[in-house]
Amino acid sequence: MTTAVSIPKTGGSGGHTAVAARARQVVKAYGSGETRVVALDHVDVDIARGQFTAIMGPSGSGKSTLMHCVAGLDTVTSGQIFIDETEITALKDKKLTQLRRDRIGFIFQAFNLLPTLNAIENITLPMDIAGRKPDQAWLDRVVETVGLAERLKHRPNQLSGGQQQRVAVARALAARPEIIFGDEPTGNLDSRAGAEVLGFLRRSVDELGQTIVMVTHDPVAAAYANRVLYLADGRIVDEMYNPTAELVLERMLRLSPGGTETSAAGAAGRTPEAFDARGRVS
Ligand code: ADP
Repeated sequence: MTTAVSIPKTGGSGGHTAVAARARQVVKAYGSGETRVVALDHVDVDIARGQFTAIMGPSGSGKSTLMHCVAGLDTVTSGQIFIDETEITALKDKKLTQLRRDRIGFIFQAFNLLPTLNAIENITLPMDIAGRKPDQAWLDRVVETVGLAERLKHRPNQLSGGQQQRVAVARALAARPEIIFGDEPTGNLDSRAGAEVLGFLRRSVDELGQTIVMVTHDPVAAAYANRVLYLADGRIVDEMYNPTAELVLERMLRLSPGGTETSAAGAAGRTPEAFDARGRVS
């Protein structure tokens, strides 16, 4: 399989299509001649609105590149990317920056909070910069959803790693973006804090209707998603709906016979518990 397009394009709620983002025949190549690396090889994918999608695959398979291209953080070599009905691959820099600011949310492995601002100031900062007034009722709901109501006046250094990432999740949710992209959002957290953050991401999909796309190495993290896409050598080679950690791990072992951190050679016979928070064999 080199395509993961199976969602009816219409029928979404709130005036949007049922597909929050689309990639069509996307190629991303780095370098040229002998050193040319094809990171994405004609990828077609639909990301369903109001669902949690995980992107998995061995190191170097193109996960981050796919996320960065779909999120408009990187340009494509050829092909098209759409956010709802907007073709972002056709936008000039200024319009693209505006679209990212107004319609997309990001959560990174490093929490990227400003140390001098407290939690609530960090949460509303992107809206303050954009000159947008937060919707107070929504903000209260987001703060409640991620369990931060008691800690809004705390600065990042007064919060644990898990709490800091919850602030980053709330910051991404606060502006009500159409879609949130997470690049290994639990990669810097221990498994308990990671589980908490993943639980809040799940709740934001179930209770707030958020659309989330997350890159991860971790079968346990992927099990929080509705759907898992598997990349190998820049192609989508498989997908799974309603994943469990065991099924995800089993599929990863089948799809990655080579020597990577998720390799069958190193991981055969191990349970998901034998993987650390980043999916590496312990
Ligand atoms: P993953 O996220 O699955 O680990 P990446 O998307 O980071 O994979 O990388 C996919 C491929 O593209 C790899 O072969 C990687 O070496 C290559 N690549 C990524 N970024 C660059 C870059 N800036 N310059 C050259 N090659 C790159």
